[in-house]
Amino acid sequence: MTEPRLFVDHDLQAEQPLTLTGNHHHYLAKVLRLGAGATVKLFNGRDGEWRAVIDHMTRQGVEMILRERLRPQAVEPDLWLLFAPIKGKRVDTIAEKAGELGVSRIMPVITQRTVVSRVNVDRLRANAREAAEQCERLTLPEVMEPLDLGAAIASWPAGRVLLLADERASATPIAEALADLARESARPAAVLIGPEGGFAEDEKRLVRALPDCVPVSLGPRLLRADTAVFATLALWQAHLGDWRGGDAGWSQ
Ligand code: SAM
Repeated sequence: MTEPRLFVDHDLQAEQPLTLTGNHHHYLAKVLRLGAGATVKLFNGRDGEWRAVIDHMTRQGVEMILRERLRPQAVEPDLWLLFAPIKGKRVDTIAEKAGELGVSRIMPVITQRTVVSRVNVDRLRANAREAAEQCERLTLPEVMEPLDLGAAIASWPAGRVLLLADERASATPIAEALADLARESARPAAVLIGPEGGFAEDEKRLVRALPDCVPVSLGPRLLRADTAVFATLALWQAHLGDWRGGDAGWSQ
């Protein structure tokens, strides 16, 4: 069986005892039926990845001891995803894939044509967390409460590139725009994908007015919003993020 890998809030340091309770306890004791001597990988987004050994189980929790650090904490790309929530399970898949594709912050934004009235943020968090645990990243993406697109743009941090996925023919092909950005020094970035009905024209004008906005085209076919999310994130990682070989410029 593969060693389970869990995100925890505890500080992690050598020979430290710790107790996992609640869902973690249930998962390790009841679902996986692990006992004394079994090992588990733990990470907390701050202290790297550790191997812990189960010492014993109680009715309240799993008593563990941290044995060895497997990886130090590394600096990860600073990439936000802003997307208009869509209906059904595809919104959960967006959170899952954003976790796997190394997004640092997931921001549901409400646009004029967003049809979803309620976003289950807890479920998005659970999907992003499970994805981070299984894909071996060392951090969790932060999942924000939904925000109006106008408010997100009004408080846009200076210097953060905003790639606006815009199906309009005048937008630069994405590979070209990313190659241009790769010639500059590394900058924090974000990707913005519209709802199924697309952005309203005044929304596009508002976003395009940001000095750091780069409108990009994803080719001649109209993609579903979730496909546009995955394609844009993958291309960004390949051109500017940690899919590049060597030092991708994210060290501090
Ligand atoms: N405006 C369209 C309509 O109502 O026919 C559909 C919008 S599309 C389903 C959802 C979002 O995906 C768009 O707002 C855009 O951000 C992105 N998108 C889809 N295809 C794209 C393309 N070829 N180039 C750039 N962005 C695209």
